[in-house]
Amino acid sequence: MTVIGHEWASDLLLSGLAKGRIPHATLIVGPQNIGKTTLAFSFSQALNCTGGHSVPCGECVSCRKIANGNHPDVRILDSPGQSLKIDEVRDLQRHLSLSPHEGRWRVAVLSDFERATVEAANALLKTLEEPPAQVALVLTATEAEVLLPTIVSRCQVLSLRPLSTAAVKEALISNWNAHPTRADLLAHLSNGRLGWAVRAHEDESLLARRDEHLDNLALLMSKGRVERLAYAADLSRDSNLVKEVLTLWLGWWRDVLLLASGSQATITNLDRKAMLHQQAGQVTIRQAQRLVAQLRSTTRNLDQNVNVRLALEVLLLSLPSVAFQ
Ligand SMILES: [Zn+2]
Repeated sequence: MTVIGHEWASDLLLSGLAKGRIPHATLIVGPQNIGKTTLAFSFSQALNCTGGHSVPCGECVSCRKIANGNHPDVRILDSPGQSLKIDEVRDLQRHLSLSPHEGRWRVAVLSDFERATVEAANALLKTLEEPPAQVALVLTATEAEVLLPTIVSRCQVLSLRPLSTAAVKEALISNWNAHPTRADLLAHLSNGRLGWAVRAHEDESLLARRDEHLDNLALLMSKGRVERLAYAADLSRDSNLVKEVLTLWLGWWRDVLLLASGSQATITNLDRKAMLHQQAGQVTIRQAQRLVAQLRSTTRNLDQNVNVRLALEVLLLSLPSVAFQ
């Protein structure tokens, strides 16, 4: 559970620990796969570490049990994509009402707390208002604004920012033995989310999917109305896929815009430079700008219950028509 980057957040938590000022509840916010849960785990380890000079040592029985997910005093509620129900919170509260079994602190990590139903969040509020002794709660969320303000106001809030591209690259090379060229590409594609870069490094299918989505984009631009509308209809059936595809397309068109406008800023899709240059030569800056803006607003509107299929149809029909090799 080595936390990479976010040094200020680790320092803040550890210095609180050293001074005996441990917040009952901490809320760690930041984009997906940026290291929120890793930081939460590391803090759980620090609270219960029995090792030597550096805390958490990562080697004592307690640290190892937490890393392996089998420490009796550390509960993790982490089911991505599923809502967190009141029964789970009540069960957790029963567990937290007991004194620690073998550690000093009972810790509960509630990942992606935006998954909590209103009932579950209100139930947890009771624990936040009257926290049992020797209990530390760590919540994570993509942003504080999506949670009930009553929850947020009772937490110490740590807002994590994306790591620099250089930091992600360096971590991939030294901690995950990635080849420098690959580390460079993944670091650029990650937008500072180390967790994503590591997953992509370990699971080839992530990059393969990206290739497929970018190939589709190029292909669609050489196709007519019928094919584009068919693609929109197909894609609109899977809302998670829509987000994934639009995020990639946005990154792609941002690169096209950078090149078309002669910007010296670094592009993201390093491995497809030739194709980017080719496209940048075939569209106007205005076209690229318009498409970037449109991809942004379509992505934003997806969260607001728009008619996804219609939004995709409009977007697909706005793609410039150009033939690419
Ligand atoms: Zn330890």
